[in-house]
Amino acid sequence: MTAPPPRNAMSVDVEEWFQVQAFAGVIPRERWEVSDSRVVASTDRILARLAEAGVRATFFTLGWVAERHPALVRRIAEAGHELASHGYGHELVHQIGQARFREDIRRAKVVLEDAGGVAVTGYRAPTFSVGPAITPWAHRVLAEEGYRYSSSVFPLRHDLYGAPDAPRGPHLPDPEGVPELPMTTLRAFGRNLPCAGGGWFRLAPYPLFRTALRRVNQAEGRAGMFYFHPWEIDPGQPRVAAAPRRARFRHYTRQGSMEQRIVRLLRDFAWGRVDEVFASEIAAPAPAPTARAA
Ligand SMILES: [Zn+2]
Repeated sequence: MTAPPPRNAMSVDVEEWFQVQAFAGVIPRERWEVSDSRVVASTDRILARLAEAGVRATFFTLGWVAERHPALVRRIAEAGHELASHGYGHELVHQIGQARFREDIRRAKVVLEDAGGVAVTGYRAPTFSVGPAITPWAHRVLAEEGYRYSSSVFPLRHDLYGAPDAPRGPHLPDPEGVPELPMTTLRAFGRNLPCAGGGWFRLAPYPLFRTALRRVNQAEGRAGMFYFHPWEIDPGQPRVAAAPRRARFRHYTRQGSMEQRIVRLLRDFAWGRVDEVFASEIAAPAPAPTARAA
């Protein structure tokens, strides 16, 4: 008798198109308030696709968005999805430091719980700006502020983020902190390759991604952690011509086919909320292994 393949965790980082790190140098925070808000329509489309597929997911939502669109937050929670926190203001955790991080996640939790009417216990750092080397205090501060898990670390090398020395599987970075549920990577060619979503998911041929995630599920017996954003399925969003070429490429490539890709992905694997798929890892986390790329 073989064990059933593990269910994977589906997650959405709910933020506006103008809040991404790639545009931070071009669209200053002061312009957020006057920029064209598109997050409600795209997130409602995601809710519809998930409902059609019968999938419940986790929505890591920005406090800034929840304050302006509380009805959307309420719809997310009422549909049976897990409402979780993407922090308040989408600031890089390693840049703002411990005290402002605490304020940011505290404020986000209050705003989200008020809007959604449910407890918020999951957290994802903006732009995966958490890791053992850059923010060794983050998981403890999260525990102190009433969170129960973090899904904020991407254990690979990347120019904007990444913690290549972090363990690949769920682990407890700090005995006094919350467990970490990292983005999924595939170990191949002596490296950790991304297998979790983002620009890579839009760029790679879909069957290649499917094969990689199946390998994580079957060969390693691990559940995957997938993420995407409402702006990735919104090809009609305003174009930021002043952004660097590389940022524009990453942001806009294949947005037109992304929604159909997600529909396929929802069909090809079994999915669930982060707090359900990783319930045992959250309840009884394993200590961080000391070996690299564990
Ligand atoms: Zn984000």
